[in-house]
Amino acid sequence: MTRSTRQRERERETQQTSEDEGVRACPECSSEDLVKSSDRGELVCDDCGLVVEEGSIDPGPEWRAFNHQERQQKSRVGAPTTQTMHDKGLTTTIDWKDKDAYGRSISSKKRSQMHRLRKWQERIRTKDAGERNLQFALSEIDRMASALGVPRSVREVASVIYRRALKEDLIRGRSIEGVATSALYAACRKEGIPRSLEEISEVSRVERKEIGRTYRYISQELGLEMRPVDPKKYVPRFCSELELSEEVQSKANEIIETTAEQGLLSGKSPTGYAAAAIYAASLLCNEKKTQREVADVAQVTEVTIRNRYQEQIEAMGIHS
Ligand SMILES: [Zn+2]
Repeated sequence: MTRSTRQRERERETQQTSEDEGVRACPECSSEDLVKSSDRGELVCDDCGLVVEEGSIDPGPEWRAFNHQERQQKSRVGAPTTQTMHDKGLTTTIDWKDKDAYGRSISSKKRSQMHRLRKWQERIRTKDAGERNLQFALSEIDRMASALGVPRSVREVASVIYRRALKEDLIRGRSIEGVATSALYAACRKEGIPRSLEEISEVSRVERKEIGRTYRYISQELGLEMRPVDPKKYVPRFCSELELSEEVQSKANEIIETTAEQGLLSGKSPTGYAAAAIYAASLLCNEKKTQREVADVAQVTEVTIRNRYQEQIEAMGIHS
């Protein structure tokens, strides 16, 4: 175990202990700065903006317009434009290999012509610092998205969020990396394949606290959804990483549904909640994984799994 891993582990331990000791903390970023929002009377995390205690209004389907499939359906001619390239993929790239379309080498006169053309194209491509920054942000989104293994649609959504933030002048005074990471974090949630702040900070160049803060600002300004994530959204990925069967998956979902109905989920970290249900389900289906194994995949502590597990099996009327 490296030093930084150990340190992170320790931080996680302290943060999650506070949750388990009944201190009111944000289930996503563990901050204890929770404030009542004046307009809706919700309990909101002051650091990452998560709505810790539900209000009743759902801001609704404003997002649908950015759906990738919809965009593709709307595009009638040519290849669909892509949001992840800073010029939306509309310019042509001239090959750097000095070959023509048939792969033959080209003459020196042609080559210098090509050279000039390429330079000129390059200048158009990155017209000013803003463009270059956008290009950098989008490549950061791409890099982090591949490291997280999220599908193309998530990158597209993240790029749209970033462009909106840029257009609304929200980047000013913040780091490009921070806004890019927050856009990706928001996009994962939007697309229903959430990554925890913990997971996202592992692949980002900025630390968790800054990601949380930037996310809060961006989502408030852009009116993005900030409800807690449904733990069931984590179940398929965690189960597949643990090589658990479909049966365990549906059992875990059943545990989550049943216990959440009894109010057990309120204020709890969704990753820890999912992890405990998966652990319980693996026992019930005779595909036992250790708490350590599940904790590693879900990036939570074993203490959290143990506590959530106890509460869940009690609520289910199962005795260990
Ligand atoms: Zn928070």
